[in-house]
Formats: sequence, C-alpha cells, structure tokens
Amino acid sequence: MAARTLRIGLIPGDGIGREVIPAGRRILEALPASLNLKFSFVDLDAGWDTFKRTGTALPEKTVETLKKECDGALFGAVSSPTTKVAGYSSPIVALRKRLDLYANVRPVKTTAGAGGSPIDLVIVRENTEDLYVKEERTTDTPNGKVAEAVKRISERASSRIATMAGEIALRRQKIRDVAAASGAAVTRSKPMVTITHKSNVLSQTDGLFREASRQALAAQKFANVEVEEQIVDSMVYKLFRQPQYYDVIVAPNLYGDILSDGAAALVGSLGLVPSANVGDSFAIGEPCHGSAPDIEGKGIANPIATLRSVALMLEFLGEEPAAAKIYAAVDANLDEGKFLSPDLGGKATTQEVLEDVLKRL
Ligand code: ATP
Repeated sequence: MAARTLRIGLIPGDGIGREVIPAGRRILEALPASLNLKFSFVDLDAGWDTFKRTGTALPEKTVETLKKECDGALFGAVSSPTTKVAGYSSPIVALRKRLDLYANVRPVKTTAGAGGSPIDLVIVRENTEDLYVKEERTTDTPNGKVAEAVKRISERASSRIATMAGEIALRRQKIRDVAAASGAAVTRSKPMVTITHKSNVLSQTDGLFREASRQALAAQKFANVEVEEQIVDSMVYKLFRQPQYYDVIVAPNLYGDILSDGAAALVGSLGLVPSANVGDSFAIGEPCHGSAPDIEGKGIANPIATLRSVALMLEFLGEEPAAAKIYAAVDANLDEGKFLSPDLGGKATTQEVLEDVLKRL
C-alpha cells in the first residue's frame, strides 16, 4: 500500500516556540517506516516578532497555506506585548476563527512513574461563543457604572462540541483497548463523558448547553459511552480531590478555560501539557505553555508538551497507531526519569530529552 503523505504547517512563533517546534518535526520524521506515513513540512510565520517585522501577527500567506496545502499544523507560542499595541491581536485566536477550529482539546495525564494512581483525562472546551463573544458594555447610572457582558450559547455549537467529546471518548477507548491487548495496565474499561454546566443558576444559557449536549450524546453511535453531568463548582472540587475519576469533560468556553488551566496544575509542569485546536477538517497541535521568555535561548525548554501535541494532532488526522507510539515513548522517558528537563527537577537539555524519546520510538 502506498504511504500516506501528510503536509504539516510549522508555526514556531516566538520564544521557546522556536526551540520546541523543531523537536515536533523531528519526532514526525523519526516515526517507524512500518506505519506507512510520510511527512512534508512548510515553515510559516506568526507572532509578535512577525508583527514587529511585517505589521501583522498573522500573515495572510500563513492562513492561505494552511487552508490550501496542509493536512494539519503545529503552533509553538507567541509573546504578547505587555501594553496594548495598536493593530496587534493574538494570531492563534484569529487562526481558530479563520479555520473554524471550534474545539480546544486538552489532555491531562500522569504516568505510573509519577506515583499514586495515574490521571488520564481530557477537557474538551467549546471555543467560539459563551462570554468570549466579547459583547460588553458599560453604562453610567445614578448609582455609578454598570458593566454587562453577553453570554451566548447556541444549540449548534453545544451539539457539535458534545459530539466531538463523544468521538474523543470512543477513540480513547480504542487506544486503551490496544494498550490492554499488548499487556499494559489500563485504568478504565468504559468511556465516559461528563457534561459541565451551571444550569441551576443559568437555566437558559447553560440549560441549553446541557440539553443540546445530552441530545447529541444520545446518538446511537455513543451507546457505549456513559454520559453524566456535573455542576461546574462541584466539578472543580472533585477534579482536585479525585482526578482519576474523569475521562472526557465537555464544557462551554469559560468553564473550559478555567478547568483546563486548573487541571494542568495536577501534572507538575506546563512543559508537559499538550493541546489541540480542532475543527471538522483541520487540527493544530499546540503546547499549552507560552513563549517562556525567562528560559528562551537557554536550550532547556521541555519539549514534551510539543511532542504530545504532535501525537494529539495525529489522533485527529486518524493516525492513532502513530500517536500511540509517541505517547508510549514519552511516557517511557518520564517513567525512567533519567533525561528530564529542569522544570521537572532534571538537568537534561531540550535536545537530550528529545534524543531519549526518539531512541524509544
Ligand atoms: P507568555 O507571555 O508567552 O505567556 P509566560 O512566561 O507568561 O509567557 P509561560 O511561557 O507559559 O508564560 O511560562 C510560565 C512559566 O513556566 C515560566 O517560568 C516558564 O519558564 C515555565 N515554562 C513554560 N513552558 C515551559 C517548558 N516547555 N519547559 C520549561 N519550562 C516552561
């Protein structure tokens, strides 16, 4: 069978994005030939440096190349100016809009080597509406200023994010089944989606999110997925007391944002946490960390968040076996603990961590 060739856009951006995205490229190039996958790459600009050079943080050429030529992409990080700069806005936010990447997917995982029972959950955050429609206004009243914001929830967006959460739950079960068949210990035998909301207070907006999600997850293809729901505040409590309980959490934009950053604190370093921006026909892998100006240029950025983001992108491109190889190689590196970067208490450089993971592929 002819190998499948995937064209990947590489957008390193600023700061340590330029140190970790090359590691992402290397791991794709190092995947075993038996997977029958080939990659071609195109380097693309975006970010603060690009803005300073060209006057735009997201050149049209980057968007057009992604749309017309690429199957997926990797995005590093961008620095933000400390004060507002006219004309500058976040390129990743713009990219999500331009490519209709309506889901932000954030896995949170610990390995057996970290001690305790491993955490393995994923937060699926709706990324197009809720309070982030940014329709705010301030009115002067006799009692002082009053500020208001629109919280927009639609049936369509809620339904498609819940459908994506269900599909992710099924795919994670497949990956667990493969792992179990090869003798690995797995923590869960049935996929589960937890719908997060606050419909006891916001009966219309969050009520609609809950209803539309429930309905989407009632589809026949999700018959094997356990569906439950939880009020967001009690979820935060349980997420920190008992993170092992969760599999897939689906949430509207704001709760998803807060839960994702909170959950990242469960795993020790931002340098470990991947994400993906996903739509119906495109996925961009993106480490959760920022451009980390404090360690830029030192060669010590942890590349693991990026390597896991590569795997996540591959999952959404339908290449689960390749993704599983990367996850296993990264977990083995962490479990052995010989080549860890300084954020994890080790002494290894970006390059040394990468070489150790590549060796395990
Ligand atoms: P930005 O303004 O781009 O968001 P920031 O410094 O505010 O940058 P992060 O880049 O996310 O936010 O960094 C937060 C802290 O975590 C910093 O101390 C940084 O050095 C550390 N950090 C982030 N990513 C990594 C990584 N991949 N490896 C090691 N340390 C990291």
